Amino acid sequence: MSRRGANLPSIGEFNQSVVLDVIRMAPGGVSRVEIAAQTGLSSQTATNATRRLLAAGLIREGERTATGPGKPRTALHLVPEARSAIGIHLDPSFITYTVVDLAGAVVARAVTPTPRVLSPADVVDSMVGSVEALVAEAHIDRDRLLGIGIAAPGPLDLERGTVDNPPLLPGWDGVPLRDALGDALGMPVTLEKDVTAATIGELWSAGDPDRDDFAVLYIGTGVGLGIALDRSVRRGATSNLGDIGHLRVSHDGPLCACGNRGCLGENIAPARLVREAAEAGAIAPVSLDDHDAVAAAYAEACAAADDDARVRTIVDGIAGDIATAVVLVANLLDLADVVVSGAFWNHLAPVALTEIRRRVDASKAYVLPHPLRVGTSVVGADATAVGAGCQVLSAVFAPSSTPLLRPASA
Ligand SMILES: [Zn+2]
Repeated sequence: MSRRGANLPSIGEFNQSVVLDVIRMAPGGVSRVEIAAQTGLSSQTATNATRRLLAAGLIREGERTATGPGKPRTALHLVPEARSAIGIHLDPSFITYTVVDLAGAVVARAVTPTPRVLSPADVVDSMVGSVEALVAEAHIDRDRLLGIGIAAPGPLDLERGTVDNPPLLPGWDGVPLRDALGDALGMPVTLEKDVTAATIGELWSAGDPDRDDFAVLYIGTGVGLGIALDRSVRRGATSNLGDIGHLRVSHDGPLCACGNRGCLGENIAPARLVREAAEAGAIAPVSLDDHDAVAAAYAEACAAADDDARVRTIVDGIAGDIATAVVLVANLLDLADVVVSGAFWNHLAPVALTEIRRRVDASKAYVLPHPLRVGTSVVGADATAVGAGCQVLSAVFAPSSTPLLRPASA
């Protein structure tokens, strides 16, 4: 497939992308000799690539060090502030806006509630206003701003750049989010499924160069799974990979829309924990249709788990369901890591991660000949929004770029 987005300040040559990738993944700096050794490029080719990256201002020379015989080596470092991108995470409950630098670090952020009853045009208007305000308030240099990445719940139609009636976003049918935002802001825009964006964020900014084969289990208002194999994010036939909501993890549990009980999505849904904690008398009941109230009650219930046996039982059940899903997915794909992220996970992790690991380690269903690491995303609470920004960086700079960028029509 040809690469769209030709008007982006593209890095152009493949070798430069490869070299930039090595420098980006070496926070302590890396010498030209080491780059040649790691990439397999000739030292002349590696030197030519670094010269162009230096001229573009994307990298800088650091200290000279003598590491043995031969002449001292000059360490090359990324210049994180050289470029930035905007990442937007559209969640059914909130919209997170971030500006990330070239290293994937957050330099500005804002969060707004997701509009409930507005028309698509009003939603786009409100998002444009939020982006403009963030860029202005954070004094972001527009000349260095590469574009906007949007992460949204599926199903998405990436050909048309639309959000097509996600289950948790009633009224969001055929919303042409990508083109409307691109036209209004005059910037290239990428659209990506939320879990895929979160996975790209892990690849771009996680800083663990040994994490090659992993899944990102996203626990937000909904649940999803992103997959990277051999450090390459997977998307599937229509880029909608990752709906893990109907994976059966138990024989009981709440009735799912699919007609079954024991589906992961229903079993670990925030509303379920809140409802059961309220029924047990551990927290005050709230309206389960009120996203904000559910989010607050969820945080309250999780915080009580260590001191309240009733909540502890509910949380342990959820931990068991997550562990079952983690083991099944790891077995299926031969994963070494499962990274958990998402707005609700930040509340659940402190009281559930240890139990999830214990159950994974004890699982008789786990068949792989290596230990499975289960941990929290190092990208942080805004992992999906950060990932959406990293998707733009990745499309411009990564050696295996994706053809998802829509050029600004301005
Ligand atoms: Zn189901």
